[in-house]
Amino acid sequence: AYNFNAGPAALPLEVLQKAQEQLVEYQGIGMSIMEISHRSSQYEQLNEETQSLMKELFGIPDGYKVLFLQGGGSTQFAMIPMNFLKAGKTAAYVHTGSWADKALKEAKLFGETAVVASSEADKFTKIPDLSGLQLGENTAYLHITSNETIEGSQYQQYPDTGSVPLIVDMSSDILSRPVDISKFAMIYAGAQKNLGPSGVTVVILREDMLEDLPKNIPTMLKYEIHAKNNSLYNTPPVYSVYMVNLVLKWIKENGGLEAMERRNREKADLIYQAIDGSGGFYSGVVDPAYRSIMNITFRMKDEELEKKFVKESEANGFVGLKGHRSVGGLRASTYNAVPYEACKALAEFMADFQKRNS
Ligand code: PLP
Repeated sequence: AYNFNAGPAALPLEVLQKAQEQLVEYQGIGMSIMEISHRSSQYEQLNEETQSLMKELFGIPDGYKVLFLQGGGSTQFAMIPMNFLKAGKTAAYVHTGSWADKALKEAKLFGETAVVASSEADKFTKIPDLSGLQLGENTAYLHITSNETIEGSQYQQYPDTGSVPLIVDMSSDILSRPVDISKFAMIYAGAQKNLGPSGVTVVILREDMLEDLPKNIPTMLKYEIHAKNNSLYNTPPVYSVYMVNLVLKWIKENGGLEAMERRNREKADLIYQAIDGSGGFYSGVVDPAYRSIMNITFRMKDEELEKKFVKESEANGFVGLKGHRSVGGLRASTYNAVPYEACKALAEFMADFQKRNS
């Protein structure tokens, strides 16, 4: 199948094959990685190696911790304000779409929040210009959503927030392009788009964020505990971390983040060209300046035609092209693991569908 699912999403074929090969017996230990103790030397080594690979590939400088947590991006929406939003402070949010909205709603449960920029008036077809953003001294942190998976918009550059900690939800574009990590106090991402299967959430946290945190939060929701215990406070999602390890090795073998970005742009260009070159038969949802290279959203003249498109695409081996139920339309998710050939086949199918239906 040509897998354009938004998440859980495609995994590299080579990774699945490697996992299959090692499923029953992991590295000569007589059992599966799923069956070993997380206190074993084998898992400790896997845990360390996966952190090191993440640091190496992403160019994470000294002074940051890489954590493997559970509960998905959604649990981070709550953990962030629980840990970092103190009484008397305000948490600043940029409202760019459905996921930014969910993050904001959770923060409101814990303290003062402010929407400091929003593209709601533009129906989330843009990312607000944050170049002149002024954040008050009382700002606990600024939260942004790097890539809006549902609407299909993506930051082209990240804001400078000076001494205010910048926290980013990178759930749907982590490791899709090189990033200057030193801009961020915290990056988080559920694994199930670019990193591996669901079940593990990667948190990259600057160590100074761990100072002076509130004590009255449940143990499992304290960053401090997970950092102190090297992500081994309780039983970690061993198999998911193992899969992330294989995906990181695959990225490394395939040229790292520069190569990922080049390939992702080429792939997305194929589909955006099919949209823009269709004379209005297909129309892109997002302003071209903010288009995502991970989630390509587009519409057709009416919902009937969109339904027909989805049905025929499925019959032709394309999976996951229906837009999110909250916004409708069509969406092709072109994460790292989606091959160029799949995007080429989709662009050809789109041209052919247009010919047959105009
Ligand atoms: N943030 C973004 C940008 C997402 O796309 C998603 C899920 O699709 C989430 C957060 C929520 O992640 P999870 O399902 O891991 O809680």
